Amino acid sequence: MLETTIAGSLPKPEWLAEPEKLWAQWRLEGASLEYGKRDAALMWLKQQEDAGIDIVSNGEQFRQHFVHGFLQQVSGIDWNIMTPMGIRDNRYVVDVPTVTAAVSRKGPVHSSEVRFTRAHTKRLLKFTLPGPMTICDTIADNYYGRRSDMAMAFAEILNQEAAEIAALGVNVIQFDEPAFNVFRDDVKDWGIEALHRAIAGLPCKTAVHICYGYGIEENVKWKKTLGSEWRQYEEIFPAINRSRIDQVSLECANSKVPMSLLRLLRDKEVMVGAIDVASHTVETSEQVAATIKQALQYVDAARLFPCTNCGMAPLPRDVAVGKIRALSGGANLVRRSLG
Ligand code: ZN
Repeated sequence: MLETTIAGSLPKPEWLAEPEKLWAQWRLEGASLEYGKRDAALMWLKQQEDAGIDIVSNGEQFRQHFVHGFLQQVSGIDWNIMTPMGIRDNRYVVDVPTVTAAVSRKGPVHSSEVRFTRAHTKRLLKFTLPGPMTICDTIADNYYGRRSDMAMAFAEILNQEAAEIAALGVNVIQFDEPAFNVFRDDVKDWGIEALHRAIAGLPCKTAVHICYGYGIEENVKWKKTLGSEWRQYEEIFPAINRSRIDQVSLECANSKVPMSLLRLLRDKEVMVGAIDVASHTVETSEQVAATIKQALQYVDAARLFPCTNCGMAPLPRDVAVGKIRALSGGANLVRRSLG
């Protein structure tokens, strides 16, 4: 009950990549880089286990960014044509590669890191992949013409990748769809359909992560424009509740999301964000417990998984360690109080 997990990324150690940065450059190369990624993943598995996290991940130590790490192994994308794009509805401009032909996988993308991670922990293992809509919002299109068509093409190759990862013993595959909170009509028109294509036939649990973005300046500014109550989830939850996805990962702690919206996910398992990733202040276990208890008013304990709000990649390493300990500590407090 109240099994804890993290949304996805954890900070890269300072010897592996420049700290406290998204898209940070690697500090190693060649074979040293490959060993470095593995050593970092081992360190984070140990930290999660020591903290008492129930469903662990490799902390995304093997990829530079959650979208482009996957796209690098996809053909049909021209990395020499970098197009400036205002992603997440112009919240920030990033130079993104361009789709110039039908996309296909060059081969397995994450299999070797999954095999490595699976071999080094006995706990339940979660793996994150970018969702089709978010991929389409992080790449320029000079081939498909319609976003929904490009999303279906990416969903197809995500499904091939996910099936391989699941066969290697991953227990939960999560698709990250921060774009769901931005293009809410598209979620209903084709976003869920694309997710269904991505999860088709998977033997493991499936999840979707929908947040308000990493704790970076652009997102913090954007959040200030969203008013006193953030009700974006309200528009998409009914469709998500009807979907075939098993779990939904959400931003709750320190956000202005009304907890009562969790009621709309009555048929889903809910990963409740109980750790704020936009602040360097480490929560106390009591604060985490309070967030979990609030969520328990709307989600019964059997369906509630305490989690972080989002990835922790841009945080200092010791802050992230403190936060996962607080997450576990908070869940323990609530378990005890429930008897
Ligand atoms: Zn997120």
